[in-house]
Amino acid sequence: MKKVIVAIDGPAGSGKSTTAKLLAKRLGYIYIDTGAMYRAITLYSLRNNLLSEPPRICDGARNIKLTISIIEGENKVFINDEDVSDQIRSKEVNDNVSFISTLECVRKELVNKQRVLAENGGVVMEGRDIGTVVFPNAEVKIFLTASLEKRAERRFQEFKSLGRDIPIADVIKNLRDRDITDSTRKNSPLKKAEDAFEVDNSELSIEQQVQQIRDIILKKIGTIVNE
Ligand code: C5P
Repeated sequence: MKKVIVAIDGPAGSGKSTTAKLLAKRLGYIYIDTGAMYRAITLYSLRNNLLSEPPRICDGARNIKLTISIIEGENKVFINDEDVSDQIRSKEVNDNVSFISTLECVRKELVNKQRVLAENGGVVMEGRDIGTVVFPNAEVKIFLTASLEKRAERRFQEFKSLGRDIPIADVIKNLRDRDITDSTRKNSPLKKAEDAFEVDNSELSIEQQVQQIRDIILKKIGTIVNE
């Protein structure tokens, strides 16, 4: 049976990762978190004090060895063989990743890598431009949204469960700032692809939204293998 590409796009904190992971498991597909790749370039830029030197950020994006390994369904991210999966979730990375993601050269390198990762199909890939730019011909496209308040509340709880006490006002500000930068940038802005199905999960449980998306996939490709 043909293995397709499922593209999931949407704003920060809309539940893309949770949904994409669960779907990948049900479909027997691999899951790829493209935000983690932009975060890795951001971490590299912060560590090397490159924020005011975009040409050197571009060199980094071209030359560092950036690897995504899928270990028990989770994405692990490596820069030059160092596991940076935790460091890429820091506040500094959160605050700077949307700027790094505006750089055309960075996007070009990462989009190339994303296309290679999915060349055999059988992938659920999540990000901001997967259905519009990376895979405009993806067989299934989902645009996941939720209200800013719901997204912030979920992020806040997520941080709390990791022992990180971040004031809710800071979480709201980071999400709002990233939404604005991501959706107004010149290169590959966050937007719903014309042929994407929009799912607003503000009032849905994870199980309800996965069920909705599963129904969309069933309509589009006829079957779900791992059920
Ligand atoms: O998905 P996540 O919130 O981890 O993404 C972090 C940031 O990476 C986003 O705010 C956005 O600036 C950038 N990004 C992007 N294109 C993607 C995935 C993420 O520009 N495909």
